[in-house]
Amino acid sequence: MTVEPRIGTAGPAMIDPFGRAVTYLRVSVTDRCDFRCTYCMSEHMTFLPKRDLLTLEELDRVCSAFIRKGVRKLRLTGGEPLVRRDMMTLVRSLGRHLATGALDELTLTTNGSQLARFAGDLAAAGVRRINVSLDTLDADRFARITRWGRLEQVLEGIEAATRAGLKVKINTVALRNENEAEIPSLIEWAHARGHDITLIETMPLGDIDEDRTDQYLPLSLVRSRLEERWALENLPDRTGGPARYVRIRETGGRLGFITPLTHNFCESCNRVRLTCTGTLYMCLGQADAADLRAPVRASADDALLDAAIDEAISRKPKGHDFVIDRQHKRPALRRHMSVTGG
Ligand code: SAM
Ligand code: SF4
Repeated sequence: MTVEPRIGTAGPAMIDPFGRAVTYLRVSVTDRCDFRCTYCMSEHMTFLPKRDLLTLEELDRVCSAFIRKGVRKLRLTGGEPLVRRDMMTLVRSLGRHLATGALDELTLTTNGSQLARFAGDLAAAGVRRINVSLDTLDADRFARITRWGRLEQVLEGIEAATRAGLKVKINTVALRNENEAEIPSLIEWAHARGHDITLIETMPLGDIDEDRTDQYLPLSLVRSRLEERWALENLPDRTGGPARYVRIRETGGRLGFITPLTHNFCESCNRVRLTCTGTLYMCLGQADAADLRAPVRASADDALLDAAIDEAISRKPKGHDFVIDRQHKRPALRRHMSVTGG
């Protein structure tokens, strides 16, 4: 498949060796978080030293370089993006690219804990849609899954976001023996409030305290159970992302499935991921990465940075290679989701 470079961007578009245009950048602005979700982190995490982090100005510079090169959609994530100090400064600053039309969408993925505080500011900066992670509506289960989180705070955050005019999509990780039985009621809850909801299969990223093979719940199974209850109508994939969408006839809402352990979305992959230390991962499921912090810090001019980005894109691999190592119960990749931001 050949992809025509976008016209109207200042620099040459980023086309990888497999003809895919890179138009989507996900940025993990911090590896820290106010939750410790069992599938994501261990309870006692060692976080990166602050001096290793890109400053907010440096993050802005790298994001802006990508936008100049054809990125049209930017997602801020983490860790928890809204716990990074002065985060709104970065959001407001990146919002200028929406105003000029260089960027189509600025969005974020959040656990919702700080949304009640920031929803209005996000909307004012030009954010229109956000993803909020919510795995359960049961307060005790919520506390068990997130270890440190409080359900009520997140529900208040979602309400504040809706009031501020933000479109909210719910992300739910499907967890065997945990929220498994609750999935239909979560879907009903989301659709009754006008939220799309996407189910995510657990990915083997990073050491956690639990056994990942215990948590793994195949979405193929979830889907066939839902089909016994509801009529699921396949929708054409309009996001270019990893989710497959259906409409549930009875609720009228959209439901997505993200199944990273299958290779069903690598062919259309349009994205790369930047960590808060300036490491660029060209694929969520591969270890290969490029350092963009050194070129950023080496000169105030963007020539080195631009060259490093081009070189990295020329190494974007064809696909990933996730496996939960069932014999050794080790993650396929040692890096946590909170580093690359999902
Ligand atoms: N803290 C924010 C949040 O929870 O939405 C943003 C970062 S979090 C790493 C992004 C998404 O990745 C969340 O929806 C979370 O549920 C999901 N996630 C984290 N670890 C995962 C794993 N091992 N497998 C699948 N999804 C995971
Ligand atoms: Fe934090 Fe999000 Fe990971 Fe949960 S999934 S620990 S909220 S980064």
